Amino acid sequence: MTRRVFNFNPGPATLPFEVIRQASQAVLEYDGQGMSLIEMSHRSKQYDKINAEAEADMKKIMGLGDDYRVLFMGGGASLQFSMVPMNFLRQGQTADYVNTGAWASKAIKEAKKEGSVNVAASSEDRQFAYIPKTFNFTKDASYVHVTSNNTIYGTEWQTYPETNGVPLIVDMSSDILSRKLDYSKFDLIYAGAQKNLGPAGVTIIIAKKDFIDSANDNLPTMLSYKTHAAKNSLFNTPPVFPVYVVGLVLKWILEKGGLDAIEKINTEKAKLLYDMIDANIDFYSPNVDKDSRSKMNVTFRLVNRDLEAKFVEEAKAQDLIGLKGHRDAGGIRASLYNALPLEGVKKLTEFMEQFKKDNK
Ligand SMILES: *Cc1c(COP(=O)(O)O)cnc(C)c1O
Repeated sequence: MTRRVFNFNPGPATLPFEVIRQASQAVLEYDGQGMSLIEMSHRSKQYDKINAEAEADMKKIMGLGDDYRVLFMGGGASLQFSMVPMNFLRQGQTADYVNTGAWASKAIKEAKKEGSVNVAASSEDRQFAYIPKTFNFTKDASYVHVTSNNTIYGTEWQTYPETNGVPLIVDMSSDILSRKLDYSKFDLIYAGAQKNLGPAGVTIIIAKKDFIDSANDNLPTMLSYKTHAAKNSLFNTPPVFPVYVVGLVLKWILEKGGLDAIEKINTEKAKLLYDMIDANIDFYSPNVDKDSRSKMNVTFRLVNRDLEAKFVEEAKAQDLIGLKGHRDAGGIRASLYNALPLEGVKKLTEFMEQFKKDNK
């Protein structure tokens, strides 16, 4: 018997247990080949199939067509902070960024090393407790960059800004495939796998072909999107096993009924927890604006902050793991990614009821 806790960690994060079981089998032997998948060539026909299916399933789930590419790369979302401006910030132009938290700030810091950056809006004035609604965009910017979900502070874009033809680039690391969206409004989406899609070690880039073709030249080979697109993510040895697990997660999403079904359950999970907090604001205090609340990372405080460590400790004793807020934000954070079952949120809200009674 494998012990399973409810894992509310922000990333690496919980994955569907069916996927873990299948992945563990592939570590022992894959496709009757007498070897493990982690021993197998990335030039094998087995890996070709894994790579092609993962790309096709990703586009199918997102409702994207042949005008998009899906690339699998190393380096984490953090490498994308540099690759995006290297490839798309044009000489003599400016890139617009919206600063909604720690990850956005890091993206801005790297972009500034590559060229001119305009921070078109920021929510830093209130510790990133909201998503800005007005923007000071540059005319003819190279692109606009936003961070879809703010993993640390617990805010999420509900609708994205109108950029009037300027390419829109999004760091979707912590809410990719969590809801239905018109994904075709983005020219480039990137996400580290380890929040909502799979294990750490692979970063997924979904981009318009034309946009990739328009990228700057004369970059280091490995830092050029064109390299990876031209070679179907096989320019060098890709993270074979993480890509395989991402592929399994994509098939799990399709089996569940795609993003319609995923969004429905994610909405139900988040509502359950936010309703619990709102009904007990004498004890639990929400710390982001209602219209900016994330469905993926629910952050809140205890009115008596001295009780927060005890809360995390007692939750842990009940197999509710990973609830401590990020060190920059403090408080509590419950990450409710796709694979976190509704049952886990129910158990968390029951725990919260009891904890309040015991500590009032
Ligand atoms: C986790 C995270 C990152 C960093 O991802 P790495 O893969 O560790 O580099 C970037 N952006 C967001 C929104 C994240 O949640």
